[in-house]
Amino acid sequence: MLGPVILAASRSDRMRRLISAAPVTKQVVDRFIPGETVDDIVPIIKDLTGKGLQLTMDVVGEDITTPEQATIARDAYLALIDHLKELELGEKVEMSVKLSMFGQALENGHELALANVRPVVEAAAAIGTTVTLDAEDHTTLDSMFAIHEELRKDFPGTGCVIQAYLFRTEADAKRLAEAGSRVRLVKGAYKEPAEVAYQQKHEIDKAYVRVLKTLMEGEGYPMIGSHDPRLISIAQELAHKAGRKLDEYEFQMLYGIRGDEHLRLAAEGHRMRVYTAYGTDWYGYFMRRLAEKPANLRFFLRSMVSKG
Ligand SMILES: Cc1cc2nc3c(=O)[nH]c(=O)nc-3n(C[C@H](O)[C@H](O)[C@H](O)COP(=O)(O)OP(=O)(O)OC[C@H]3O[C@@H](n4cnc5c(N)ncnc54)[C@H](O)[C@@H]3O)c2cc1C
Repeated sequence: MLGPVILAASRSDRMRRLISAAPVTKQVVDRFIPGETVDDIVPIIKDLTGKGLQLTMDVVGEDITTPEQATIARDAYLALIDHLKELELGEKVEMSVKLSMFGQALENGHELALANVRPVVEAAAAIGTTVTLDAEDHTTLDSMFAIHEELRKDFPGTGCVIQAYLFRTEADAKRLAEAGSRVRLVKGAYKEPAEVAYQQKHEIDKAYVRVLKTLMEGEGYPMIGSHDPRLISIAQELAHKAGRKLDEYEFQMLYGIRGDEHLRLAAEGHRMRVYTAYGTDWYGYFMRRLAEKPANLRFFLRSMVSKG
């Protein structure tokens, strides 16, 4: 019941100001967003890759309002890639980007986002890694898929995300399950209307399995973005049935959620990639994590009351 309310708040400027300024919030935020700067995050990258995990890095931020902010976003990713170059980790550390942070919602936003994201994809390719385009709310997806297709002409390994809760996704998965494509499947984290998306958990889970089957039986490289133990074991079964080897798909989970499971899957020989977010504009990302699990919200509110 609370999830949709928190997701609505995640888009409210007033709530953003209130929560971002609350003195105790930072400690709770750290669980999901373990740093604000590249210097904070490099030791975490070294630690996690040293444990056999792979990473996808997200510089937090979305829904920017000026072209200058889009340039800042681009430069933040380029600075990160500069640091990664020295670490020589190649495809073990890739990038995840939100096109709304690259100007997608501004005037001529489609062109602006493409122009800003292209140098990031180029720089990533130059150090032997890739970029995945995150999926945001459903109104942004046609533009995201068109940018994905355009980038793949020069950088075929550019990935994208599809969301099981959307009715459109089964068709998107069929189109994308082709040789060389990299597709992350997630349940979906935005507040979407009943006209475009399943609303019930059991419907979303069933859709996830249908889409996963399409990806596993297809020619591309499926990236299973979920913490759901049932879906993880179904993914293992589907991969086995499709005759996929361990390096022909990967699991992905978020930093701060089910950390033991990250290590367990990696120890079993699976490719396990941890989506690791850092930066200062963490509000939207953080609120989606609260919305996914009511216990997180209770913990957050308790910490405010006890310190307040
Ligand atoms: C690598 C990765 C990338 C993602 N990228 C996108 C994207 O581009 N676009 C998008 O819309 N969504 C994205 N998501 C979020 C996704 O859509 C879901 O909202 C999120 O993964 C929760 O769904 P679940 O599959 O883990 O299943 P759920 O049924 O929500 O959770 C299963 C179990 O995982 C644990 N869990 C899940 N979420 C939390 C949490 N926040 N805090 C604590 N425990 C939790 C709980 O134990 C829960 O019982 C991404 C998720 C992952 C893992």
